[in-house]
Amino acid sequence: MDTIFSKIINKEIPSDILYEDDLCIAINDINPKAKIHLLIIPKKQIENINSANDDDQIILGHLLMVCKKLAKQLNISEEGYQILTNVGEGGGQTVMHLHFHLLSGNAVTL
Ligand code: AMP
Repeated sequence: MDTIFSKIINKEIPSDILYEDDLCIAINDINPKAKIHLLIIPKKQIENINSANDDDQIILGHLLMVCKKLAKQLNISEEGYQILTNVGEGGGQTVMHLHFHLLSGNAVTL
């Protein structure tokens, strides 16, 4: 199912794409919950971790490595940051296209 993220990936609607490669994009969250709040989104339409399959392992690993790379670029590697993904409505997911939130500045405490 197409979501707003497909439209951003396909450049059908404008967005501030901070990073892009063959497998993913990274954008600023439109409604940031922390000083730094990025979304790292695979180009492949995967709804969430529940619907990821074994073939998606490379993409999932890649998304985490991109989080690490962006954290270094943003100079937050040392102070620390959070990587979070919501799964399903009960898990707080509102956009049904897998994404990792990269958050820094005012941590969500668990
Ligand atoms: P989740 O609730 O985990 O599905 O996260 C979805 C996130 O997408 C929320 O933090 C929204 O603020 C963010 N979001 C929704 N639409 C856009 C958009 N057009 N550009 C950037 N971020 C968006």
